[in-house]
Amino acid sequence: MGKCPNLDNCAFFAGKIAGKTELIDSLKQTYCLDDNTCCARWQVSRLKGIGSVPHDLYPNALDRLRDLLR
Ligand code: SF4
Repeated sequence: MGKCPNLDNCAFFAGKIAGKTELIDSLKQTYCLDDNTCCARWQVSRLKGIGSVPHDLYPNALDRLRDLLR
């Protein structure tokens, strides 16, 4: 656990994803800076490559993983 290895290459962490600032900041703290292992974006990048991560995917959008990892 700890900072995500994708920090420098992640559109979500870079603030390029639309959404409520408070929610995004909270997700960054929980996933990006503390424990990336459960992040949906991380899991897609790890298994399919970072280029396969949908731009709008939120770290907590685990419900989308099954389709994305097919
Ligand atoms: S959103 Fe996920 S992949 Fe992106 S930096 Fe945060 S933990 Fe890593």
